[in-house]
Amino acid sequence: MDKVRVRFAPSPTGFFHIGSARTALFNWLYARHTGGTFVLRIEDTDQERNREEYLNILKDGMRWLGLDWDEGPEVGGAYGPYFQSQRDGIYREYLEILRKRGRAYDKDGAVFFKVSGEKQVLHDAVYGDVEHLEEKDFPIFRSNGTPVFHFVNVVDDICMEITDVIRGQDHLTNTNKHIELFKAFGAPMPRFAHIPLILKSEGHGKMSKRDRGALIEEYQQKNFLPEAVRNYLCMLGWNPKNDREIMPIEEIISLFDFHGIVKSNARFDERKMAHFNTEHIRALSPEKFEKAAREALRGKIDLGPDCEYIRKVFAVCQPKVSNMEGLPSMLDHFFNEDFPFDESAKEKIFKKGEPLARLEELVDLIKRADSFEHDILYPQICDFAAQNGKKASEYMPILRYAITGQAGGPDLFSMLEILGKQRVLARIDRALKALK
Ligand code: GLU
Repeated sequence: MDKVRVRFAPSPTGFFHIGSARTALFNWLYARHTGGTFVLRIEDTDQERNREEYLNILKDGMRWLGLDWDEGPEVGGAYGPYFQSQRDGIYREYLEILRKRGRAYDKDGAVFFKVSGEKQVLHDAVYGDVEHLEEKDFPIFRSNGTPVFHFVNVVDDICMEITDVIRGQDHLTNTNKHIELFKAFGAPMPRFAHIPLILKSEGHGKMSKRDRGALIEEYQQKNFLPEAVRNYLCMLGWNPKNDREIMPIEEIISLFDFHGIVKSNARFDERKMAHFNTEHIRALSPEKFEKAAREALRGKIDLGPDCEYIRKVFAVCQPKVSNMEGLPSMLDHFFNEDFPFDESAKEKIFKKGEPLARLEELVDLIKRADSFEHDILYPQICDFAAQNGKKASEYMPILRYAITGQAGGPDLFSMLEILGKQRVLARIDRALKALK
């Protein structure tokens, strides 16, 4: 079998939609799975949209997702140029071939392709046998001299020796025209695999660029982990059939194949995307978490120079992080003695009992504590509560609130241990004054 050559052929639009990203991803996965070549081809024949910044959004997004291309802009390759706007000479040559074969003619200033009118059954790797019939001649060059999408798309797939066309299901009907063109050129037909649409989370229809969560830029801005977004996109229309969804990319590459692609449309689920992100964050090695956390905190929190302390803070926080966006508020108090007391948390904690009295009672115990180790301090506070005829749960929430300003977060005793006696006492003192 020929070595696989697949391509992602976006038309720059100024944003990188998750539907496009998923098409790029499936092509990339198939190339990596088969040891083939992944080509990036820019379909920029629309002059209006042919802008440098549009292309950058696309390239940035692909790089962020780790979708490296083997041929295309910047990396080059033997089948260039990889911008349709630079391939005009090639399109003219191919037009001549059609003219010579009597398959192209002029009409109203445009150039039309003469269809064969034959029905063709083509095996789509996802949709199975599909009947294709293009009954009417169609334009391949406009009257302003620019070539039409169907024509340049097929010419490039021929020139670039594309073996497999993996693209959105919305192109399935275009395949009628594409098959006609491949046949007219006498070129071997690539294998087609049309992938299901991504539907918006609620209601009907395809996810549009206005729907929340639709653009890769959003995830970049919110500091999602790219590997989490990529993992989630893999599951939109592909099923590994092993009851697992959260997987390292190496495993997905080894499992990815056309028979795992599902025919039914995939529905976007924002909560599931967030869940993938959380799971990937928690699974990071401490080194990788530190790198991602520093990135998410940059310009928001001054971490100071004590790397040992920073590492300890990250270690207690990582298991409780649900997204990197929430990290600054979760970590603030570790680096700032002047942290705020959360109002809604306060309401919750002060609803019953006398939390400030309990907090006052703890001062003495904490002053006397000769160890701040988790496993020593925890039973001491439990015993102390029992001696006072109270429940430990009357002490813990107010203690947490006093030292963090929050109602939830990382393990309380791990935090006490990291903060140390002096800071804890100072914080309790501050809380007693501020909360009275
Ligand atoms: N430029 C087309 C698009 O963005 C490419 C279609 C194809 O992959 O053949 O939809």
